[in-house]
Amino acid sequence: MKSHAQVVVIGGGVVGCSVLFHLARHGWTDVVLLERDELTSGSTWHAAGGMHTINGDPNVAKLQKYTIELYKEIEELSGQATGVHVTGGVLLAATEARMDWLRGVVAKGRYLGLDLEEISAKEAAELMPLLDPKQFVGAVRNSEDGHLDPSGVTHAYAKAARKLGAEVERFTKVEDIVRREDGMWRAITNKGEIVTEHVVNAGGLWAREVGRMVGLELPVLAMEHMYLITEDMPEVKAWNDKTGSEIIHAVDFDGELYLRQERGGMLMGTYEKANKPWSEFSTPWNFGHELLEPDIDRIAPSLEVGFRHFPAFQNTGIKQIINGPFTFAPDGNPLVGPVRGLPGFWSACGVMAGFSQGGGVGLALANWMIHGDPGADIWAMDISRYGDWASMRYTNAKVRENYSRRFSIRFPNEELPAGRGLKTTPIYDLLSAKGAQWGVAYGLEVPLWYAPEGVKDEFSWRRSTDFEHVANEVRSVREGVGLSEISSFAKYRVKGQGAEAWLDRMLACKLPKPGRMTLAPMLKEDGKLIGDFSLANLGNGEWFIAGSGIAEQYHMRWFEKHLPADGSVVIEAVGQKLTGLSIAGPKARELLSKVTHADVSADAFRFMDIKKLDIGMAPCLVGRVSYTGDLGYEIWIEPEYQRHIFQTFMAAGEEFSLGLFGSRALNALRLEKNYGSWAREYRPIYGPLEAGLDRFVAYGKEADFIGKAAALAERKEGGRLRLRAFVMDAVDADVIGDEPIWFNDEVRGWVTSGGYAHGAKASVAMGYVPKEIAEEMDGFEIELLGKRHAARMQAAPLFDANQGRMRG
Ligand SMILES: Cc1cc2nc3c(=O)[nH]c(=O)nc-3n(C[C@H](O)[C@H](O)[C@H](O)COP(=O)(O)OP(=O)(O)OC[C@H]3O[C@@H](n4cnc5c(N)ncnc54)[C@H](O)[C@@H]3O)c2cc1C
Repeated sequence: MKSHAQVVVIGGGVVGCSVLFHLARHGWTDVVLLERDELTSGSTWHAAGGMHTINGDPNVAKLQKYTIELYKEIEELSGQATGVHVTGGVLLAATEARMDWLRGVVAKGRYLGLDLEEISAKEAAELMPLLDPKQFVGAVRNSEDGHLDPSGVTHAYAKAARKLGAEVERFTKVEDIVRREDGMWRAITNKGEIVTEHVVNAGGLWAREVGRMVGLELPVLAMEHMYLITEDMPEVKAWNDKTGSEIIHAVDFDGELYLRQERGGMLMGTYEKANKPWSEFSTPWNFGHELLEPDIDRIAPSLEVGFRHFPAFQNTGIKQIINGPFTFAPDGNPLVGPVRGLPGFWSACGVMAGFSQGGGVGLALANWMIHGDPGADIWAMDISRYGDWASMRYTNAKVRENYSRRFSIRFPNEELPAGRGLKTTPIYDLLSAKGAQWGVAYGLEVPLWYAPEGVKDEFSWRRSTDFEHVANEVRSVREGVGLSEISSFAKYRVKGQGAEAWLDRMLACKLPKPGRMTLAPMLKEDGKLIGDFSLANLGNGEWFIAGSGIAEQYHMRWFEKHLPADGSVVIEAVGQKLTGLSIAGPKARELLSKVTHADVSADAFRFMDIKKLDIGMAPCLVGRVSYTGDLGYEIWIEPEYQRHIFQTFMAAGEEFSLGLFGSRALNALRLEKNYGSWAREYRPIYGPLEAGLDRFVAYGKEADFIGKAAALAERKEGGRLRLRAFVMDAVDADVIGDEPIWFNDEVRGWVTSGGYAHGAKASVAMGYVPKEIAEEMDGFEIELLGKRHAARMQAAPLFDANQGRMRG
């Protein structure tokens, strides 16, 4: 075994082998994979080997498509058979709500290049002869589903990597990982040690143990999972003889089952409701090529549905039940990327569908390690979407929930119950008493809307019970004044003698003068967005930044990566050490003037000013800015004052009929201003010109900000896309995101977000289209729930286009 390597990959399951292969293929060949046993000794060996392209996140779906297309290549490169059978499959719906969901999947597939087609239940039965069409209302045909040999694929990755110069050391257990003072890592094994620049945790079932070696508690939990294999079935043989092909895959969402042919019989697996975590606190090192005891009672309810939906199963015996553990993150997507605070330590774990996602995970990680960027929009699997709040118990609750809902529909207005109430602000009970309906962002409870007694969300793809109440909240803002809680923003304080110069390099905007704020895009070296903030200069070398709450860890990882080593800049994510309230609407100034002695007149407190002032008895930081696009103020306060300030506003607001508004009303308000938001309109694949943020980029400033050269090139060449807002002829439903945008009968773009703009009484969609058609006003259609709706480009915001209200 070598004593030095550029990269040590820990774990010889499908994911570690894919990472090794991708590193070698992209030119890093001084790489070694360490496996404590034989390759495939974790979850990998007993997988059912199914692969599919669909995923709730379109970017993950793209990587799944890449994974499946890669198998042919690694087979050729390695000479190792992968056993890949692309049979195609059917996705089955037993309810209309499920069919609506599947139509959304087909629609997304159009711009992702997936071959999906809506078919009737009868047509599905013609393709998959074992199903009873009477049990279903419709289906989708997917030509890219299939299955493979898990061990063959894993060895093919490893052999192909070896051919490219990578090394694989089996029976080599990493027992500890230690960071040296010079930043290099020591991977200490039972066979000696390797000094390395980079360590990849692809420990699968033992990813938590590997994480603990460097002080990390990863939000990962293994669950038991069962599938059965039947005896040979005459129906299967008859079909094979008649058609010369295998029985295709089926996913029965309402039965929570997946099926495929296995030799002369069938394989049926299920994600049962009565699920069971495996080894909740730590994974034994002596667990190897073993299976767990099957528990047929647990899966019996699903099998009953399966036997009804696929009647041929009633006449066959079960040959074997496989029960094995595999790991999940709380939302079921992988945990990939550099780990904040541990330079050179990378995560490639929590991969629950290794044979659909392993290739994409390997590609993204290799790109990230070699080029400093994953090369794709992988937010949905970025490890930084979780912070320290994702504790072991939280993870346990969410993973169990996610497992039991693996095939369940999640409606756009549906909030999930597990892991709730973890982080709350001091006014949680006061807002609850006013009818707050809660959602969650980065672990924090956030008010979505305020329901009258006895009313709650009815889950639906269409406008629902909240519609008229959100409309009232919007009205209170646009006609008087509204108050909302904004604690879920991420907040950062930056100081130190190097702070100004550092911010000038990190952010693409012109830095504001003391007492002023500005919108601040942040770019990567390739000139694409990596953040969008509001930046405030508090004077005396102190700066305050507010940004997307869900991206706090993501942004801190980026900030810290670029901090000067001399300690001249200090940045802190203040989290809930600072809470927030916002007031907005034409009467917001009057309300503010009633609760403070400070001069808040239009001249004394201008749009984009920021000041320290007292509200009631409490000291606050107040910025004159509002995401509602109205006259408004954002008020930042230490949590011990939040109740006092809330109550002060509520009392003073009575004469103005002050109304509370939640994040759904805020969404409606920002849509009629054409305002985008991070993780929706602004993502790391769009340039500032494409995203319409170029007006905040100080292309001519002296500082050589990160991404400057690329941003200038984008400005010169014009980029590829444009963010646009559309008003669409929707009747009883609005877009949520990821719907295709049609132009002249072709899919040319995709929706990033949208909803009903209650103030303007319009259904609004925001999304990207190629720049060539971005100046067209008409001819667009947006596909929603299986129908195309006419959409008109909305160049000027529907509300306050001349900004008189906001700036007045
Ligand atoms: C019953 C069942 C059915 C499944 N069906 C499917 C399916 O149809 N399709 C699909 O895509 N997925 C399926 N899966 C999931 C799939 O198996 C996993 O997604 C995949 O195997 C994860 O691979 P991995 O490399 O991340 O982890 P693992 O396979 O667990 O590999 C981790 C490896 O790391 C090694 N290791 C850990 N710590 C150390 C250390 N300190 N030193 C050295 N080596 C170490 C382990 O020995 C192990 O070999 C199924 C899983 C089960 C249990």
